[in-house]
Amino acid sequence: MAKTLEERGYPIIDVHGHQGNLKRLSDGSPGMLPPVTKQQIALEKYFRHHELTTEQLLETLPTEEEMRETFRKYGVYFCPAAWTAPTGQGEIGQTNDYIYNLWQRHRGICLGFWGCVDPWMGEEALSEAERCLRDLKALGIKFQQASQKFHLSDHRFYPLWDLIASYNGFVQWHGGYTGVGTGMPGGGGIKILEYTNPIDVDNVAADFPKLRIILMHTCDPFTEAAELVCMHKGNVYRETSGALPRYIPERMIHDINTRLRTKFMFGSEYPYFRLVDNILDGWEKDVTFRPGIEELFFYKNALNILGDRFENAGADLSPWKGLI
Ligand SMILES: [Zn+2]
Repeated sequence: MAKTLEERGYPIIDVHGHQGNLKRLSDGSPGMLPPVTKQQIALEKYFRHHELTTEQLLETLPTEEEMRETFRKYGVYFCPAAWTAPTGQGEIGQTNDYIYNLWQRHRGICLGFWGCVDPWMGEEALSEAERCLRDLKALGIKFQQASQKFHLSDHRFYPLWDLIASYNGFVQWHGGYTGVGTGMPGGGGIKILEYTNPIDVDNVAADFPKLRIILMHTCDPFTEAAELVCMHKGNVYRETSGALPRYIPERMIHDINTRLRTKFMFGSEYPYFRLVDNILDGWEKDVTFRPGIEELFFYKNALNILGDRFENAGADLSPWKGLI
């Protein structure tokens, strides 16, 4: 069983999760992921190897109070991301305002939030990204290229990277395999390799040295390329959400322990992965850290890399006082 905050002795920073499919939405906003879709049920089957009905799936989701208690008990501070892909998938998902308000309601366990815009929305995407960064104090903007169906290195989207860099924001970019659509005919229309190759990240990172990029997930089957892009580009960082720890490639664990030890951050993909049973437990059971690495990975790197954004968001960083 995963260690509680007391047993572990230090609080964890989780740089990527979600919310919005809580059983009850206290602010009444349209924060539900669209309707518990077939895709979400397929995702559940992929994550946990069992098929649920819509009702059963809803039953497994936590309430906001349960969420808060779990994060408190285990000493995890998270950064939820909004979600939108109307052009690619016809989904509005979790709006920026919904996730912003969730953060505001739970500042005791949330350090900030990630906005999300549909890059195909042109001017609208630019002004929404600007609103997130300027008015809502987002840490940055998250994109999921497979669902949003676009190439990061397509010059039509360069104004977005320019804008985000001008606000000193981060981007969270998807890398490699996505569970979305797994097992469905045609993978639910999702192309898992076309838009998710870190070669696009390398190209944009070179063109926008001031844009700070978090290349997400295991990047399977491009793990090696992802680690090399991260090593080569000072403005590219990595995080680990989106896979059970036992499925994280050896190469990635090795790099977390060695040459990328100051660049990797912990991410959970909560609540798609259960925080305690799937993630914290898995990192304790299935991964071996070299001395001193665990603390870098679970909070020090996040404070060093995202520290100015946490401050910009007015996050309370006192839980780490005296720890770095
Ligand atoms: Zn995610």
